[in-house]
Amino acid sequence: MCGIVGYIGNKQAYPILIKGLQRLEYRGYDSAGVALITDQNELVVYKTRGKVSDLEHFSTSKDTSGTVGIAHTRWATHGEPNDVNAHPHYSQSESIAMIHNGIIENYAVLKADLMARGFTFKSNTDTEVLVQLIEFVRQTNEVDLFHAVQLALTQVIGAYAIAVVEKNNPDTIVAARKSSPLVVGIGDDEFFLGSDASPIIEFTDRVIYLEDDEVVRLQRGKEPRIFNLNNVEKSHEIIKLEMSLSQLEKGGYPHFMLKEIFEQPNTIRECMRGRINVDHTSVAMSGIIDNKEKFLNAERIIIAACGTSWHAGLIGEYLIEEFARIPVEVEYASEFRYRNPIVHKGDVVIVISQSGETADTLAAAELAKSKGAFVYGICNVVGSSIPRMTHSGSYTHAGPEIGVASTKAFTAQVTVLSLIALTIAKEKGTMPKEVFERYVAELASIPDKMEETLQVSPYIEKFSRIFTYAKNFLYLGRGYNYPVALEGALKLKEISYIHAEGYPAAEMKHGPIALIDQEMPTVVIAPNKGHYEKVVSNIQEIKARKGRVVAIITKGDTVIRDMADFYIEIPETEEGFVPLLAALPLQLMAYYIAIVKGCDVDQPRNLAKSVTVE
Ligand code: GLU
Repeated sequence: MCGIVGYIGNKQAYPILIKGLQRLEYRGYDSAGVALITDQNELVVYKTRGKVSDLEHFSTSKDTSGTVGIAHTRWATHGEPNDVNAHPHYSQSESIAMIHNGIIENYAVLKADLMARGFTFKSNTDTEVLVQLIEFVRQTNEVDLFHAVQLALTQVIGAYAIAVVEKNNPDTIVAARKSSPLVVGIGDDEFFLGSDASPIIEFTDRVIYLEDDEVVRLQRGKEPRIFNLNNVEKSHEIIKLEMSLSQLEKGGYPHFMLKEIFEQPNTIRECMRGRINVDHTSVAMSGIIDNKEKFLNAERIIIAACGTSWHAGLIGEYLIEEFARIPVEVEYASEFRYRNPIVHKGDVVIVISQSGETADTLAAAELAKSKGAFVYGICNVVGSSIPRMTHSGSYTHAGPEIGVASTKAFTAQVTVLSLIALTIAKEKGTMPKEVFERYVAELASIPDKMEETLQVSPYIEKFSRIFTYAKNFLYLGRGYNYPVALEGALKLKEISYIHAEGYPAAEMKHGPIALIDQEMPTVVIAPNKGHYEKVVSNIQEIKARKGRVVAIITKGDTVIRDMADFYIEIPETEEGFVPLLAALPLQLMAYYIAIVKGCDVDQPRNLAKSVTVE
């Protein structure tokens, strides 16, 4: 959350910073701002409530010259989203400006101390406290900006990625990180900063991922130098990015979300590339094979994740338990990290996060590691924090996901979990050879079946209009489709602001049935697998109470087709892989309902992607 960009070089910084903010806007869009050291050697800050386009508007006819600058798009944690709380924040003398992603947890103590020393504050943010502290340290210790940042950070508890500029130091940007991501781009005589690589890739593919507690000095005409908070110099590896610019564009679609929904057949192909052999007789998940003993000897597996990734984790539980016969527990990372969980040495903990930066998931992984578990990461963003700190893992290879509501990352996570379950099953011998090969061949056919499923898009677009009146929705599914119901409900809530709940279908009788009437539609995921007859009964129960039903059914099912008010057909597949197909119409339904309601689907209110704060 919060997007950070920085530039120092020979080009004009402002257009580069604005473009960078646009690429990072998925991380926050409460307010936006920029600090520049202008050609007149002034340190100026322009900031405003609203989006990056509002900042551009605000800055027209202002002096936006200068070849060094920092910029920010905010997702507020401390202080409402308004002009004053927008970043960058000045220090008291206005000689230093700073941007920040994260939370300074001990801000109140630090603020009280600074106020007692005569500092005054303009905003309600925790960020302003840190920039004031930097100025205080700089003055009292008579050190330069770099050392002032280092010293100030030793007093800070919390999470941060920061970038700092100083009026009297026009050839330098100082940046640092702890538990919030920060990437340095290395160009020809120029440097870039970004919360991720997306604002950088257009200019250079050479990057350094900063580690926790590192501070970098970016100086015009010099090599970047990285130190820890104790001023010990750290070596750094320059990584070559493999991202392409076109992956960050909408490619003709009106929204990133729709583009990403339609990308799924290809992302799943990418996800499986090199992992399933051509004749579908084996699966090679190297992270599992290389650590085979850990998985084979594990008495249980814990999966920790948040949000959509947690839903993928639930499907993973069903897959691993069914295929590999290892008990699995799925935990919310935020609960797991704070409840003193029982984790034994031989346990395997799988953490799942699209961004690889989710604060709670990262903390859960650290906790599991400290308790001696073997920690395995499933992430999408290459080089992000979780893949760097876990013992091993698998990338989902879904490509950049920009839409705030996760779509392609979800199905890629489920695919990776399917591949993991199959790999362990084969190694453990828990699946007969012919069953294993049938499953592998079926998984390999999923991208084609996704293509077929997506053809229902125009029909979903049409009928979704009917449901914009609804204030509440119920989503029901059994077995593998219970997590799909949860995910369908979450998608609708996130982008259309309609309240929706996902339930295991049989639980309906234990409460939610009381809500059913003509006003509350129910979406039932009802493929011809699993407990089909039971789901048919659930639909009857809803219809008997005049509820309206949208059913996701297997192609050719005439029974439910005739009972439901609307039906969407998906191709036949193995029970364990139904979620990979059933998720697609639910994503489309949420998308089209949100569009008809006039909602901003790529940037839904109050949400942001990559939840780097607790
Ligand atoms: N805590 C800072 C603020 O509220 C930064 C928030 C964030 O990184 O999301 O302004």
